[in-house]
Amino acid sequence: MKSYRQELWFDIKQRREFINITPQVEKCLYESGIKEGLCLVNAMHISASVFINDDESGLHQDFEVWLEKLAPEKPHSQYKHNGYEDNADAHLKRTIMGREVVVAVSGGKLDFGPWEQIFYGEFDGMRKKRVLVKIIGE
Ligand code: ZN
Repeated sequence: MKSYRQELWFDIKQRREFINITPQVEKCLYESGIKEGLCLVNAMHISASVFINDDESGLHQDFEVWLEKLAPEKPHSQYKHNGYEDNADAHLKRTIMGREVVVAVSGGKLDFGPWEQIFYGEFDGMRKKRVLVKIIGE
């Protein structure tokens, strides 16, 4: 069995953003040489997410509005976690949107359903953060 590990780094210039990281993950898969197996992609921070959904800008705005209803950023004082930090909302948003995805690898490709794409969801940006890609198989 082959094993491949890579870290993808991001430095988002705003607090919240969604980025389609499918091309970077496909590059990792190509580099791994693995044709059949599993590909794990996870955020390495507790205020960011990796999730699979549609690359459609309206939907991304809907996510932003929905997450702000569930866990509004402000006022910061509404959260017990906020004291030295102001990112309680980011922890909550990350929990809803998920930590990781696992995609089947078939024939050397990510075996997606229709319209599936992998996203990095940043909820507390303006600093360097990373995503782990781990691929195992033959
Ligand atoms: Zn925190």
